[in-house]
Amino acid sequence: MSGPTRRRLLAGCGCCMVASSFGCAPPERPLIPGERPTTATDEGGLWAIMDREEARLARSPLRVNDPGLERYISGIACTVGGAYCRDVRVYVVRNASFNASMAPNGMLQVWTGLLLRTENEAQLAAVIGHELGHFVARHSLTRMRTARTVGDIAAFIALGTAGAGVQGGPQAVQAIAISALFAYSRDQEREADTFGLAAMRQAGYAESEAAAVWAGMAAEERAEPARDRGVPFLATHPGAEEREQTLRTLAASAAGTGRMGEDTHQAALAPLMPTMLADEVRLRRPERSLSVFQRLLARQPNEPGLNAATGEVYRLRAALGDDERALAAFRIAAAAPRPPATAWRGIGLVEQRRGQRAEAAAAFRRYLATTPEPPDAAMIRSYLVEGT
Ligand SMILES: [Zn+2]
Repeated sequence: MSGPTRRRLLAGCGCCMVASSFGCAPPERPLIPGERPTTATDEGGLWAIMDREEARLARSPLRVNDPGLERYISGIACTVGGAYCRDVRVYVVRNASFNASMAPNGMLQVWTGLLLRTENEAQLAAVIGHELGHFVARHSLTRMRTARTVGDIAAFIALGTAGAGVQGGPQAVQAIAISALFAYSRDQEREADTFGLAAMRQAGYAESEAAAVWAGMAAEERAEPARDRGVPFLATHPGAEEREQTLRTLAASAAGTGRMGEDTHQAALAPLMPTMLADEVRLRRPERSLSVFQRLLARQPNEPGLNAATGEVYRLRAALGDDERALAAFRIAAAAPRPPATAWRGIGLVEQRRGQRAEAAAAFRRYLATTPEPPDAAMIRSYLVEGT
């Protein structure tokens, strides 16, 4: 068999391995920086749909209004994106699920659940680099062109606009629908990984951190094995353990070198951290939350906000021994120079449950002394009147 014939067969074969109702289409040439398809083409039509979605996302109440954070993430996208810097627009979306997705028109969504789980700039750069790989290789266009019939194409487009009919409905529905549009093949995933790691290398980031993101996700899966986790990124990508292994293998040659950017990352996320922690706790999925928090605490064991959130997860779970675990975490938070008010509230509620009236009253008083007055101040005051 001649070389060119083998290459052609391999190209066809790789595409046909996609397990879906769609057929095969050859890969597209990479997008040129600054390129925008004309409206007369199917690609132009796809971009027009995404432009409309982007306009909706830009004014969505779930878009996080933090220009500093958006600038920070845009900076990372520029560092790893190089010549494609101007083609990418970053939107931070308040959703506790782990997700990042790049639309074919350059709209990059980063969900807060992903930000909470990244420990340094290199990890976020890894996810963004991977998404840029899909964007530059125009993978969503290839996928659209694999649609064999008019019905398939209509179904494909409908995936991208499923949220449009939900007037004022949850933005997450729309975002998940958009991400479902981009369920890529194994070959496309590998191509995006290769692109992402090369971009990280060029930007001087530690490539080993790409696998670290997925090691954390795999640990979460092990901590909460029975539930349907409903992680949008995982709905469109191979499982966490497989991704960790692939990235570890691909990055093996450059292990242990490069920039992590831990301090800059934590400083950029700090203003949003209380919201992200509260959103995670609110999901009432203690095993998953504890897996995330313990991973973050390993690097910063005395961080007050993280300890208060950990205490709250134990307090709400209320399993055998959880009162003691909650108190231990709340007390670390309360000992900080500027403790989060929730630490004193947590101590009060746990001591009240244990029948320790004096300790509970003292903690509630500390909580009520915080300014501004906590939203549940009236209820906590009633506990004091009742003698807890
Ligand atoms: Zn991907």
